[in-house]
Amino acid sequence: MLNAKLEALQESFNPSVLTQLLDPLFKEKEIELWVKRDDLIHPIISGNKWRKLKYILDHALTLGADSIISMGGAYSNHLHALAFAGKQLNLKTLAYIRGERPKNFSPTLKDLQLWGMELRFVSRTEYRELRGYKSHDSLPGLDKGQYWLPEGGATELALKGVAEIISEINLDYDILCVPCGTGATLAGLIKANTAKNMIYGFSALKGGDFLFQDVEKLLKQQTTNWTVQLDYHFGGFAKTNNELKLFMQHFLSQHAIELEPVYTAKMFYALYDLIQQDQFKPGQRLIAIHTGGLQGNRS
Ligand SMILES: *Cc1c(COP(=O)(O)O)cnc(C)c1O
Repeated sequence: MLNAKLEALQESFNPSVLTQLLDPLFKEKEIELWVKRDDLIHPIISGNKWRKLKYILDHALTLGADSIISMGGAYSNHLHALAFAGKQLNLKTLAYIRGERPKNFSPTLKDLQLWGMELRFVSRTEYRELRGYKSHDSLPGLDKGQYWLPEGGATELALKGVAEIISEINLDYDILCVPCGTGATLAGLIKANTAKNMIYGFSALKGGDFLFQDVEKLLKQQTTNWTVQLDYHFGGFAKTNNELKLFMQHFLSQHAIELEPVYTAKMFYALYDLIQQDQFKPGQRLIAIHTGGLQGNRS
């Protein structure tokens, strides 16, 4: 049973529909590509960030926490979701933001401020140190009632919310695809995936091989039916180029689905590329999760 306040917040969510994408390329290669539209679950709280936050917030409320402290960049989808959810749940929120306080706030930072999140700008060194605190009570100097949430909400409790994605899919599939930052969403899918199908993560970061370790750490065991595609980072986290931008425009006009350049556009670009290169077998059905994050497109 969820905390009653969370239950009430959950009422404001929409179902995440599963739709098939049509394209002459998929027809030629005899591949089916479906999208699970987690981008549509809420007008403000971004797709996979809600999945990850749900049971973490429930845990915090159960412990009697009155504030959540977390960390992220100036465009963070995680902080954006946390600040809004915190406001709805009457929880105070505080965030350590990487880098100097900008003169002009990004739309994301403006929202955080509007929703009452306290913002503390920290150096890259301090930020890196904060990454080392992994459990909710591990941040030095925490007061009573303060709950620490590591970067990206990447904790074991996040996996439980992500697992609900799998239980909502009522279609057989061969490969389930998801973009990766911390890998917590990928880990939640792997954990919940009981069938013998494959799960593919797509790293949004350069040098994403750390994901193999981090995902295993979150899972606390070795499993085999997953992998991470490392070659579609487009130069690194939040880096983009004209080819990716053109792809996003093309995708929008063809499928009427908006993507963002940090995570989802890179995954769908990769899928088109892999299908083109015959990396999947004819007859295979792929499901890709649109993890949302569209608030980031404002800047
Ligand atoms: C945060 C985010 C991801 C990555 O999720 P992780 O659990 O950190 O791997 C993917 N897509 C979008 C849109 C995100 O905001």
